[in-house]
Amino acid sequence: MIIEVLYLAATVLFIVGLKMMSGVPTAKTGNLLSAVGMGLAILATLMRGGEFTWTQIIAGIVVGSVIGVVSATKVQMTAMPQMVALFNGVGGGASQLVAIAELYRSGSELPLIALIAVQLSVFVGALTFSGSVVAFAKLQELMPGRPILFTGQHWINVLLLLGAILLGGWVTVDPGAWGPFILLNLVGLVLGILVVIPIGGADMPVVISLLNSYSGVAGATTGFVLFNNALIITGSLVGASGIILTNIMCKGMNRSLTNVLFGGFGAVSTAGSATISATGAVSEGTIDDAVTVLQNAQQVIIVPGYGMAVSQAQHALREVGDLLSSDGATVKYAIHPVAGRMPGHMNVLLAEANVSYDQICDLEDINDEFSKTDAVIVVGANDVVNPGAKTNPSSPIYGMPILNVDEARTVIVLKRSMSPGFAGIDNELFVLPNTMMVFGDAKQTLTKMVQGLKN
Ligand code: NAP
Repeated sequence: MIIEVLYLAATVLFIVGLKMMSGVPTAKTGNLLSAVGMGLAILATLMRGGEFTWTQIIAGIVVGSVIGVVSATKVQMTAMPQMVALFNGVGGGASQLVAIAELYRSGSELPLIALIAVQLSVFVGALTFSGSVVAFAKLQELMPGRPILFTGQHWINVLLLLGAILLGGWVTVDPGAWGPFILLNLVGLVLGILVVIPIGGADMPVVISLLNSYSGVAGATTGFVLFNNALIITGSLVGASGIILTNIMCKGMNRSLTNVLFGGFGAVSTAGSATISATGAVSEGTIDDAVTVLQNAQQVIIVPGYGMAVSQAQHALREVGDLLSSDGATVKYAIHPVAGRMPGHMNVLLAEANVSYDQICDLEDINDEFSKTDAVIVVGANDVVNPGAKTNPSSPIYGMPILNVDEARTVIVLKRSMSPGFAGIDNELFVLPNTMMVFGDAKQTLTKMVQGLKN
């Protein structure tokens, strides 16, 4: 009875925690509540007892905690997507191993529902594991990030999927059939690799979110293998939230999931080889020019992008924002849903720099304000402020909602060169008459701006 109560409390904490994580001000508490829930779930599982000794259990907890703490403290913010990929992969692999162990231990004694769940766990778990390892390798540049495409790729995947269904059916009917079972594991691993290699490195965050959802599905099916309600519920939560996040990311990029998975986006190296559609003179400004514009502005909107993360400019940026505020200007930060390289990337960095939550606005809340704004500072953002998304039907990002910075009186763009961003396309914002390009590393430029504003 007490065990069920603990599981129920853990489940409630997971659900409340997840809800709180959807808002920046409550996210930290939500994370903490979920961690407490996980602690209760572990306690309940330990109270259920089992075949392991305390030494084995404690050794497992210590090894896992050390790896988790060390990797989480050491990881660079820009390497977070591959870290999440690894964690998803480990989750999928764990589900696969538990299911294998259950089949080995109980075999034909397992009821039909658990036998079906074993097949799903090993297949989805194996696919998640190998797919996540490939996603990690692409992002870590251990293998080429560009899509790897070959003829008949999708048909091979379809055949593998059909093979997996047949093998899973076979083992469900005959739980002692270890040959087909091992083959099912291998098919899952191979399919995970084949599904992820055709996807470009830059689309990896979407795939990682999808794999996160798969790891939840694998966890939930393992819950059916073990008859563990908490695992079924948490697995389902992860599965559902992963797919919702995937959908949000696709919408933010105006791409369908099919296009991300099968489109081979980025197959031709785009960076630096973009077609030059934006023509016109670039007005380059100095840091002093930018400071003068900002000192005369009543309302300033700051738009951070991937380049802010690369140069770690968030602290210097907050200083600029604070100095302008103390000078009497209204300062807001506009966040595009897919700015940076992972969901919430900019929010996390701005929160780290202690930017007030009240100053941070989402695209739909701030987009009408640009036309009334004196100055916009674009810090290492490119695609998310590209007006071509509204005006150029042949642009790969046509239709993607963008921040309307081009409507502001003056736009100050901080970046190192005229290089394109993730989508590999020119940005006509950079040649508009109201745009001033200030070239250089964002952090260095902003640090000098701080000095300029103080003088
Ligand atoms: P972006 O379009 O990738 O552009 C980033 C810009 O930052 C580059 O043009 C680069 O120009 C500049 N930059 C790099 N290092 C810099 C430095 N040290 N100092 C100053 N500037 C620097 O970035 P974005 O506008 O944030 O757009 C995000 C893109 O990623 C979108 O296309 C989105 O669809 C895609 N995406 C996002 C997610 C997500 O979840 N957020 C997931 C998948 C894909 P220079 O080289 O000239 O400096």
